[in-house]
Amino acid sequence: MSCLLLCWTLLGHAGAASFGIETRLLGRPLTAQQQATVREAADRVGALITSPYAPVRVEIAANDCDQGLPKVQGTLKKLLVFVVVKRLGDDVYATGMPCDLRDGSYLPVYGVIDLNADGLSELAREDLLDTMIHELLHVLGVGTLWEAEYRVSISGDTDERSFVRRVGGALYYTGPHALAAYRTLGGQKPGVPLDPDAGHWSGRAVCAEILSGAAGDFTGRVNPVSVLTLGALEDLGYRVNRAGASSFKLPQGSCAAQIKKDASVNPPGAPMRVPQGGFATCAAARAAGASLPIRRGQPGYRVGLDGDGDGLACETGR
Ligand SMILES: [Zn+2]
Repeated sequence: MSCLLLCWTLLGHAGAASFGIETRLLGRPLTAQQQATVREAADRVGALITSPYAPVRVEIAANDCDQGLPKVQGTLKKLLVFVVVKRLGDDVYATGMPCDLRDGSYLPVYGVIDLNADGLSELAREDLLDTMIHELLHVLGVGTLWEAEYRVSISGDTDERSFVRRVGGALYYTGPHALAAYRTLGGQKPGVPLDPDAGHWSGRAVCAEILSGAAGDFTGRVNPVSVLTLGALEDLGYRVNRAGASSFKLPQGSCAAQIKKDASVNPPGAPMRVPQGGFATCAAARAAGASLPIRRGQPGYRVGLDGDGDGLACETGR
């Protein structure tokens, strides 16, 4: 083989840009450090994906996907993610979703993340980074494009594929790549156990992973992006950098046991400070290191954080 061709091929690979994500901030201003954290999250998530974002011409009207979004015209060369900093409900921390899916691949053209302005200033860098990575994964479709009803392309085409299966009363993720990863971790359930919202790994059965639901959410660190989440990206149609997965083990027994074994988590330190009358917001509760949800009677519980009045505050954290 001529060097010309070989070298070109090698260069082609070496030069292959990772998936580009461009965040655009709207709403309340973030500090320089918070802005840097948002960019770091976008870079980290982009580096997990090795397939390119295919440039696409768009003409998006203002408020098309979410109230307050500007109009966008031109060619997008990166996944555009609006990050809107505003007051959300008391027990909502942040939300992320894709907007407009491509025809054929059903991959998102752009997306939006709403970040709760309340409590943001008390949030540790690690927690903002963890939240932003989590929400960016939602924008990419992880947890948001798992069911056929959401898989509708910009032209209105529908996709039959669904990655969620109900067995008995429980929900499982059954996309092939993440399911294979779950098996390699020793998981034996019919699929990767999901929270009842069908958009997060089960907080109780998977525990602390970047895409685990509220009960598996642990503060003070960036939760691991495991082979489960990389598998979920592959199931959606992205090529991924498997070497980018963080080491991860399914819990043997309780979540607490899993966390204890992981030395990087919540180093024992200062006792939690609980404001009188309970935490102002769930973000503040997380920032203080409270384990969520907070039960009625536990320090920090406040009726205002318990939207459905079931005695559990901050149970739908993100
Ligand atoms: Zn989420």
